[in-house]
Amino acid sequence: MTRSETTGRPNLARRVNVGAVVRRLQVAGPRSRAQLARETGISFPTVTKVCDYLEELQLVEPCGEQREGLGRPSRLLRMASTSAQVVAVSIGPERLRVATAGLDGQILEERLLEAPTSYDRLCRLVVEATRQLQRASSAKTLGLGIALPGLVERESETVLASPNVPYLDGQTPSRDLQKRTGLEAALVESMEAAFLAERVRGEATDLDDFAILNYRGGMGLAAASSGRLIQGADGLAGELGHIVVDPGGRRCGCGNRGCLETVATDVSLAKTASRRLRRKVSVDELIDLLGASPRRSWLEAEVRRALDFMAMGIGTVVNLVNPRCLLLLGRFLEAREDLFPQLLDRVPRYCVPRLAERCEIRHARTDTLQGAALAIVRAIIARHACQETAA
Ligand SMILES: [Zn+2]
Repeated sequence: MTRSETTGRPNLARRVNVGAVVRRLQVAGPRSRAQLARETGISFPTVTKVCDYLEELQLVEPCGEQREGLGRPSRLLRMASTSAQVVAVSIGPERLRVATAGLDGQILEERLLEAPTSYDRLCRLVVEATRQLQRASSAKTLGLGIALPGLVERESETVLASPNVPYLDGQTPSRDLQKRTGLEAALVESMEAAFLAERVRGEATDLDDFAILNYRGGMGLAAASSGRLIQGADGLAGELGHIVVDPGGRRCGCGNRGCLETVATDVSLAKTASRRLRRKVSVDELIDLLGASPRRSWLEAEVRRALDFMAMGIGTVVNLVNPRCLLLLGRFLEAREDLFPQLLDRVPRYCVPRLAERCEIRHARTDTLQGAALAIVRAIIARHACQETAA
């Protein structure tokens, strides 16, 4: 046995080993057992046992062979994506996305739907899209993951409050959708979904200290320290968007006025444009307006204000968490090439400049949808591990 292999408590050891093999397959793609043993530091016989176990559960599948050295070619394994899949649901204030994904979190097929205005309609749309996606694929669907913005009570899987999608308040979407689709379901808060996705498929596969800031609808934060998501006593840490930066400003979904998310997100800018133009402006249209020439002076002034507030939010994160990297998830900063550099110029004014120098700010590469897929995969694997323990 190698040193990194957990010994002593067999069930715990098994869970740790399963977790390490799954993570390696999700991050690195197809691997032989020998490669997995080398790369995880787990012994070859143990890797073989874990792989057989995962294959029996249909969580991994074979995908060809690879010749290593002079010996016989070895079989490659990957997380299942043709024999099995999961359904991922991402609920946002403007859009509802439903997709199938492989067990590595890669999206296979996606349906983009207009955001519903009621909870009942949401459930109906998800059930309908799930059935369509299942009919279009021969893969076995193992479960359904749901990512949504808001405070989620873990034990009861209840949405306590979702300021940006208020029809979710008090609802239990994972339980309701499990009943209606017959699929095992897992619920995850959007920022935890973003964390899972960036850790497995994004910019943070090799990072332990990083933060993700989502500026789409609300402004959410996921901060990881030593590879672990900072969760707080109730799992509700990271409500960056509700720091008051503009006292007496616009009313926020949380009930207060002038919260950061009322002034520095895609949705807040679209709302400002709506007020100015006296009609509904969607985020899609906002992006077009930002890219159009000649530039509108009122919009430029609003964007500069939003950039200052966002830099304030980022500066706060840099001061509090000292991340090596901060990933931004949203759209308006990518509407034009000059916006992101303008943001970077502002950040050192809002935190200890030394700390800002040591934090790289980049765009995130993944999305909450992949995170929803990875959340249900994680739940399925944990359930199997628990059953093993009980037996
Ligand atoms: Zn608020």
